Amino acid sequence: MRHITVYCGASSGHRPSYVESAADFGRRIASLGLGLVYGGAGGGLMGALADAALEGGAPVIGVIPEHLVAHEVAHPGLTRLDVVSGMHARKARMIELGDAFVALPGGFGTVDELFEVLTWAQLGLHGKPCGLLDVDGYFQPLLAYVRHAVDEGFVRKPYLDNIVVASDPGELLDALGRHRSLPHLFSAA
Ligand code: AMP
Repeated sequence: MRHITVYCGASSGHRPSYVESAADFGRRIASLGLGLVYGGAGGGLMGALADAALEGGAPVIGVIPEHLVAHEVAHPGLTRLDVVSGMHARKARMIELGDAFVALPGGFGTVDELFEVLTWAQLGLHGKPCGLLDVDGYFQPLLAYVRHAVDEGFVRKPYLDNIVVASDPGELLDALGRHRSLPHLFSAA
């Protein structure tokens, strides 16, 4: 595991713990000698995450679509900024560059990216681990929805069980490092 792709809010959320945990996660990535891949913005949880990772000496790659660069949301101090043609290219590049995927608290963008990466895993388009940093139980309603989808026959339980969930950054990164990916939906097994 060398690069962690992180999805998280362009906003900071209302609780100080969201920003603190994003910074803590960035520091932890750096202290483990890993690199960070993220959405390239300078504000919100994304900015707190990237600033902490950079401060800790981690290489940080931002992947951002042209139209957002024009709005000057890009972080000015990254190790590398990959400017791509649009949101679809961005998501594909962030999946390609990451060895594991983590969602921190966020809104529509974060959940869109998380569900895409989970969907690609179940289709066998990648075999990399996916996790949630469950700060103050932020993801419990989302996990309740996924359990409901399992109960109703729309998601197979192993794909729910395959999501690594932890509230502590170090614990989450350890668990992702130990993770074995599942056979995907279309495997012969
Ligand atoms: P959200 O969770 O809705 O705040 O969206 C954040 C996620 O979507 C990030 O992981 C980014 O990849 C992407 N994104 C959404 N809005 C922005 C923005 N203004 N600047 C950069 N990335 C964004």
